[in-house]
Amino acid sequence: MTFASLGLIDPLLQALVTLGYQTPTPVQTQAIPAVLAGRDLMAAAQTGTGKTAGFALPLLQRMVMTGPQVDSNMVRVLVLVPTRELAEQVHESFKAYGGHLPLRTAVAYGGVSINPQMMKLRKGLDVLVATPGRLLDLYRQNALHFDQLQTLVLDEADRVLDLGFAEELGAIITALPKKRQTLLFSATFSEPIRALAKVLLNKPLTVEVSPRNTTVKAIRQWVITVDKKRKAELFMHLLKKRRWGQVLVFVKTRKGVEQLVSSLVAQGISADSIHGDKPQPARLRALDRFKAGEVKILVATDVAARGLDIEDLPMVVHFDLPIVAEDYIHRTGRTGRAGATGEAVSLVGADEVELLAAIETLTRQVLKRIDEPGFAPEHRVPDTNGLGQVIKKPKKPKTKKMYFGAGAHKP
Ligand code: AMP
Repeated sequence: MTFASLGLIDPLLQALVTLGYQTPTPVQTQAIPAVLAGRDLMAAAQTGTGKTAGFALPLLQRMVMTGPQVDSNMVRVLVLVPTRELAEQVHESFKAYGGHLPLRTAVAYGGVSINPQMMKLRKGLDVLVATPGRLLDLYRQNALHFDQLQTLVLDEADRVLDLGFAEELGAIITALPKKRQTLLFSATFSEPIRALAKVLLNKPLTVEVSPRNTTVKAIRQWVITVDKKRKAELFMHLLKKRRWGQVLVFVKTRKGVEQLVSSLVAQGISADSIHGDKPQPARLRALDRFKAGEVKILVATDVAARGLDIEDLPMVVHFDLPIVAEDYIHRTGRTGRAGATGEAVSLVGADEVELLAAIETLTRQVLKRIDEPGFAPEHRVPDTNGLGQVIKKPKKPKTKKMYFGAGAHKP
């Protein structure tokens, strides 16, 4: 299968040659012809599957092949994404693929001045990539009209809902023309996503490139149980012992992120952070430094989980398990991309066992536990059965013998 056989025009094929894309990925093989034909699409495809090119390439082609020229404050293709990072990344993809085409594209998200975004809209845009809150602001301030809108793309729609954008999304959809093409991409087809699809899509082609709610198989996933207060120490120990290269680490809170970065830096390890409290330029800088290899450890909260596009990242560490089980899939998806092997290790404390059970149910596996000598937890993490249940062992009466048993500590 080649990109040419999918019906893409020369300027796009040239861009793909420059980028070194040789063969379409499965989601691209299915999505490109359908989108070119104007069909609606519902795709279960997580980051790393090549989904962005799956919608960006055919949409660029449709924009360049069909009129009319876009008027002032109008937009023809609207791509809604959950985070600023993803907005930047998707926009970069449109620019990379459409570099040879006479099309106008822009990106809009909150946390930065709205004026330059309004200026860009004044001339009209073929493609606008935006986060829901800022998009609605622009619309309500009359900087944007949807009369010429042809296609709506909802990228990482599950995440849009998880981040609490349901209301904004509803308001935006109400403002769009009824007659349009709609493409919905989501890592998982949860019930809310299915409900959304029912309302939004018209006889969609359904594409599922990996089985429902599974993490990518090429990723070796395992758990180390540890007491909460020793997680940083364990992480440092693993980093040295296993000679990890670059690692993306997920921590639950912004404060936790900063604490870990400080400990790493204090030990002479180059580390940076990316979380919601940081201004956008600082986040992008941290990401760029990590991508360039200047920073060895990037510590992030889930805000950053979706947008990161880092190729060949061998290691993801779940320093804390995510509160929302689906985020485990999104986080883990940062490694093992495009068929490469990766590792995702979770440091799990006794207080996280319910979260672990939820992740195992969602991903339909019981994660292998590997003990790290010297770090056996004082607070045992109960076993799980992969069905969302925590197996609680009946308490044995305390005997002298038990004090010296495995995992127990001496009095
Ligand atoms: P995505 O799933 O859209 O985030 O894409 C994941 C990564 O795969 C990005 O870095 C893309 O540049 C890259 N990619 C997408 N399609 C292809 C392809 N057909 N061949 C090689 N790399 C690709």
